[in-house]
Amino acid sequence: MADWYTSLACPACGAGLTEKENGFHCDPCARDYAKRGDAVDFLSEPVADLSNPDAVSMVKNYREPNRLMASARRIITSEYFPGRAWREARERTLGMPGTKLIIGSGVSRYPDAIHLDIDDFPGVDIIADGHRIPLADNTVTGVLCEVVLEHVARPDKVVAETLRVLKPGGRCFFIAPFLFPFHGQPNDYRRWSREGLLEEFSSFGDLEVGIHGGPCSAMVHLLSEWMYVLTGLTFPKAYMPIKGTFTALLLPAKFLDIIVNKFPEAHRLAATLYVTGVKPGS
Ligand SMILES: [Zn+2]
Repeated sequence: MADWYTSLACPACGAGLTEKENGFHCDPCARDYAKRGDAVDFLSEPVADLSNPDAVSMVKNYREPNRLMASARRIITSEYFPGRAWREARERTLGMPGTKLIIGSGVSRYPDAIHLDIDDFPGVDIIADGHRIPLADNTVTGVLCEVVLEHVARPDKVVAETLRVLKPGGRCFFIAPFLFPFHGQPNDYRRWSREGLLEEFSSFGDLEVGIHGGPCSAMVHLLSEWMYVLTGLTFPKAYMPIKGTFTALLLPAKFLDIIVNKFPEAHRLAATLYVTGVKPGS
């Protein structure tokens, strides 16, 4: 039994759960939550339609990662994120003593962490909806959520849930896109400016917002996506060859972010921003 099992709570009514054979039971609302492999499944129905081409390609990549594509992507990716501030903030969150929660973990794995996602990707601990996190109040010391907020219909609810499940003094670290092409994995709803993130997380103390992906990274993304859109072709067939080719050609520009990210106005064209904050109280 994982030690965080006692922190689980019914996403429907908030009550504590009783462990039973191959799953959990909520007495007040008589709901059962079965295990799917190693994960506990809290979704009575899928939280999103995973049948659009963007989502299909994401899920396929999570379930059977293509090694050749993965190494090609590592080399030509436009996602290059120089900067110490966001790394330190992220490490402060992951380094909190006690159990952490990873919202939208994909296939990433972290020590002392509960990995939440909407499907049973390898490494996922709880299959759940971030709008209703199946954990009791004040149960985790850190929440990490990276480029996931744009994919949820109500980010304000996910932020409120983050505040609820964090212990007072607990820290969150989020990365959200600002200038970034549409990517419907499975849906893509919005973008945040620096001020937008400060407002979205205003219930947290010790707030800090800064650049994760800089202006040059943003331009590589936008220009290569522009080239793809200009061809008039559709996802997914034409996407990787065209997007990949132009990303590779524009690649050197991303290294300029080592310098540009330090400029005072860099946030105006940032690809992605990070926000970190602490739950008030002690
Ligand atoms: Zn219940």
